[in-house]
Amino acid sequence: MEGKIVKALSGFYYVKTATGNVYECRAKGAFKNENITPLVGDNCVFQVTDAKEKVGVVNEIKERKNSLIRPAVANVDQAMVVFAVRTPNPNLSILDRFLALMKKQNIPTIIVFNKRDLAKGDDIKDLKKAYKDSGCKVFFVTAGGDKTDGIMKLKLQLRGKVTVMAGPSGVGKSTLINVISGKKDTEEGQVATVGAISSKVGRGKQTTRHNELFDLGSSYHIIDTPGFTSLLVNEDDYTKETLQDAFPEFAPYRDKCPFKDCKHIKERDCAVRDAVEQGKISVSRYNSYKAIFGEIKTKY
Ligand code: ZN
Repeated sequence: MEGKIVKALSGFYYVKTATGNVYECRAKGAFKNENITPLVGDNCVFQVTDAKEKVGVVNEIKERKNSLIRPAVANVDQAMVVFAVRTPNPNLSILDRFLALMKKQNIPTIIVFNKRDLAKGDDIKDLKKAYKDSGCKVFFVTAGGDKTDGIMKLKLQLRGKVTVMAGPSGVGKSTLINVISGKKDTEEGQVATVGAISSKVGRGKQTTRHNELFDLGSSYHIIDTPGFTSLLVNEDDYTKETLQDAFPEFAPYRDKCPFKDCKHIKERDCAVRDAVEQGKISVSRYNSYKAIFGEIKTKY
């Protein structure tokens, strides 16, 4: 039989068939020798070993359109990174690291700022400005709120695609999944477990601990991934020379730097740093660049 791996947990792969049945499968032993790890999102061929218990063995992984290392998923069309406008405040340094990793893996990424209703002052204006030239589409939504405009736009972006979703815990990812599926948190048969926000710690009580693909109706396919608190971009992802490729907003200025191999850190008359000073490049984006740059080791 054929199906799609929708969940991988403790050595078991949960394979969903076109008719909606889910089989709990082991991977065939030979995969190890072939250096193949089945991933959530994989299309596979499996053999049913017990039809009544819906148990089987995955025998073959179909050719992948793509596969990501972090998070480990296959066959995705785009990534969606979710942060809250407030509570908790967005950690733009982590956001920028995520964008850099997706860019490295050639995955188009959209940024979703949830809890739009909690925005104060220039919150939204500032975030819009910081990411307008990042190469990512930005959405502001209130999942579970009355304002549905942002959600509708977001649903259009997600429709018909397989989207891998990431973000720290407590930003409302589960609520977002439920809203996109048209189900309320309180409804029975909800697609995701929603962790209630504890106001004291500002994060969700329950967190996702594994990658899982949710089919929300026929048009929305979202792979939820464990919430992260930090992300490391290292020399396997970028060198000190290539890191600037992760920041598309540098592109109009890079060639104007007097030094051909300018890293835009402390070189004289650097056009990128000039653009930051003139407000043409976001200060927070540039600071993320500098921070990651400092963490990347030089390869010998
Ligand atoms: Zn420069």
